[in-house]
Amino acid sequence: MSINIAIDGPSGAGKSSISKELAQKLAFIYVDTGALYRAVALYMVQNNVDIQNPDDVEKNLESLKLSFKHTEQGQRVFVGEQDVSDSIRTNEVSMAASKVSGYPAVREFLLSLQKNIAQENDVIMDGRDIGTVILPDAQVKIFLTASAQERARRRFEELKATDPNADYDEILRLIEKRDYDDIHRDVSPLKKAQDAIEIDSTNLSKGQVVDAIYQIVDEKTKKKNLHMKSIS
Ligand code: C5P
Repeated sequence: MSINIAIDGPSGAGKSSISKELAQKLAFIYVDTGALYRAVALYMVQNNVDIQNPDDVEKNLESLKLSFKHTEQGQRVFVGEQDVSDSIRTNEVSMAASKVSGYPAVREFLLSLQKNIAQENDVIMDGRDIGTVILPDAQVKIFLTASAQERARRRFEELKATDPNADYDEILRLIEKRDYDDIHRDVSPLKKAQDAIEIDSTNLSKGQVVDAIYQIVDEKTKKKNLHMKSIS
């Protein structure tokens, strides 16, 4: 039986950097599900699909060949033969991903891709609905949060090195809008699973969060008699 760790939470809470580090420590595969929604959004934008129209988006899913690979450097996402892992990281794609992820057809399209990899491998999967919808039987579920101000501050610090026009207030506005949309959509909204452990990382370092989750994984897997390569 594979071991599945679900990490959900709002944008910018540190899910992906923490999941990446944990996956390395545990020798698990890290699956960044946000990248899949971003790749769908990029494909729609590149093909001039009206993303405000769910029917148009659904129609265009038929021609989308989406796949991902796990390499030494982490997950790479492909649209057809094109590696889009870097081009999905723009603000435009973030907002478009938030929009299309509210459409049931898009969620359905990505469902089996996510379930299959977790069935066959030990994974740490991060997203918004992993503990509630995708992997309801995950052995460990974490809900990772931080205040919107702290998440905007971290994003601003990250961006300002490369973008002199980075604007904290604009970043905060976009984070709050994405939170609102993710929480209030009808399908698979961002929600803490009933059996998830919540960690508020506002005043914690990355290392402290990684250690806290590692300890939870250790305790839960020992209790359930699951064997992991990295924890004896
Ligand atoms: O996590 P990331 O910011 O890359 O996700 C991009 C968008 O994809 C989010 O704003 C969210 O709307 C959507 N998403 C989702 N369900 C997931 C992962 C991401 O709806 N499991």
